[in-house]
Amino acid sequence: MKKEQKRFIAGAVCPRCREIDKLFVYRLADKKFRECVSCDFLEEQNFAPFVRELDTRVTDNNPIHNEEQVVHLVEPKKDDQEDR
Ligand SMILES: [Zn+2]
Repeated sequence: MKKEQKRFIAGAVCPRCREIDKLFVYRLADKKFRECVSCDFLEEQNFAPFVRELDTRVTDNNPIHNEEQVVHLVEPKKDDQEDR
């Protein structure tokens, strides 16, 4: 079952043939491609895979904190990837 979803980008201009509304994006595995139906433009787009960075603060200068087990969870900021 391998059906990549193709999605046209409304108003997108192909950088090669300058046609509007000919670009579509699709995902394959963990990659994103941008392709034009008017010409043979194909571009691989690297979008960051979902990386969860665990902020482990091992270097705590205060020894008391070790006993108290102060866990500070920092929510990673999810900045919007350009989606077009
Ligand atoms: Zn094109």
